[in-house]
Amino acid sequence: MSPDHGELLYEGKAKRIFATDRSDRVLVEFKNDATAFNAQKKAQLEDKGRLNCQISARLFELLEAQGIPTHYLGLAGDTWMVVQRVKVIPLEVVLRNIATGSLCKQTPLQEGTPISPALLDLYYKDDALGDPLLTEARVHLLGIVDGARLSAIEQLARRINGVLQPFFDGLALQLVDFKLELGLNSAGELLLADEISPDTCRFWDQRSSDAEERILDKDRFRKDLGGVMEAYGEVLKRVHTACPDPRYCL
Ligand code: UDP
Repeated sequence: MSPDHGELLYEGKAKRIFATDRSDRVLVEFKNDATAFNAQKKAQLEDKGRLNCQISARLFELLEAQGIPTHYLGLAGDTWMVVQRVKVIPLEVVLRNIATGSLCKQTPLQEGTPISPALLDLYYKDDALGDPLLTEARVHLLGIVDGARLSAIEQLARRINGVLQPFFDGLALQLVDFKLELGLNSAGELLLADEISPDTCRFWDQRSSDAEERILDKDRFRKDLGGVMEAYGEVLKRVHTACPDPRYCL
């Protein structure tokens, strides 16, 4: 069931954005489309939209309850959420608590090495360029944000990791790394936007010691490990059990 909505404003790889009757709010529809490797690998994964929407909603509620400003306003269906309209800053902010993925391809760091304090990497959000890794100097050269805004982004990202890492730890899930996107609302406030889901985070199940079996995120799709939606379902199940109603789990 889809809620009443206005025109389609934007369609991305995993979500569609629709207008509402308020200019400062939009509706986000989470799609079942899965992509990896800059959309070179594609599939339809039944139920992915619902799982990512519900997981993200819970995590936004948890973060809001901890005083972290997000674009999230509420759910509007299984695969729909209402959010504040924001101008997305073209940065992908990646926090890494454990070395894996591109970090291990580009450096001699061994897979699984703990990183504390977390490593914060910035990428330029540009599919045509393949989301290249940035330096602070390049962020300024490109005029993406100024120094004060960049510090605020880094602080917010670390606060988010400071909430999420212990939360997932309590669910026997290691938050290995994750990607954030931030935006500015009409009042110019910096908000967490986009989604936080197994599409954008890596989770390792602490209840399994097997290096493949423990993967509960999009790496199952990237590496053709099978059981992708079962893994996302397990993450939702744990997030729900931990926090049936986030207002009561501070
Ligand atoms: N990530 C993402 N979108 C991207 C790139 C990365 O959500 O376009 C997430 C990814 O799921 C992982 C983290 O950011 O949780 C770090 O990814 P990494 O840089 O290791 O890239 P990958 O190995 O996925 O190419």
